[in-house]
Amino acid sequence: MRLVNGIANGVVIDHIAAGRGMIVYNKLKLDEKKCTTVLLLNVESKHLGRKDIIKIEDVLEIDTTVLGLIDQNITLNYIKDGKLIDKKTVEVPKIVKNIFKCANPRCITHSDDYATSTFTLKDQNGVLEYQCNYCEEITKYKVENDK
Ligand SMILES: [Zn+2]
Repeated sequence: MRLVNGIANGVVIDHIAAGRGMIVYNKLKLDEKKCTTVLLLNVESKHLGRKDIIKIEDVLEIDTTVLGLIDQNITLNYIKDGKLIDKKTVEVPKIVKNIFKCANPRCITHSDDYATSTFTLKDQNGVLEYQCNYCEEITKYKVENDK
């Protein structure tokens, strides 16, 4: 039998909207992880038309909060010894810590290193709206603004 998705151990991040593969790569800081990564862009997909796929060898821990922000259609396939051992989907995170910055320039999180920017999901009508836990300002999260 062929190895599932071509890697023996690791994670395959599938169903990334075409064009967002590099954003996922950067936000997961995969360049710093020193692991073998295969980035497939514009792969034909039955459901999405085109999609991006990232295969990461020998890593099983992936930050699903970041993935949920970028694209809620993403699926994760966990592979061990060439076999699919687990599948996960991602969802819009209710709480977000330290991923983006507060829209309020006077917010304490910009000046105090000990105040971790923390947000709570308010709305998800097209654009994700997060309320700052410190100053209550709403920050709209758009993938396109966060490259
Ligand atoms: Zn704030």
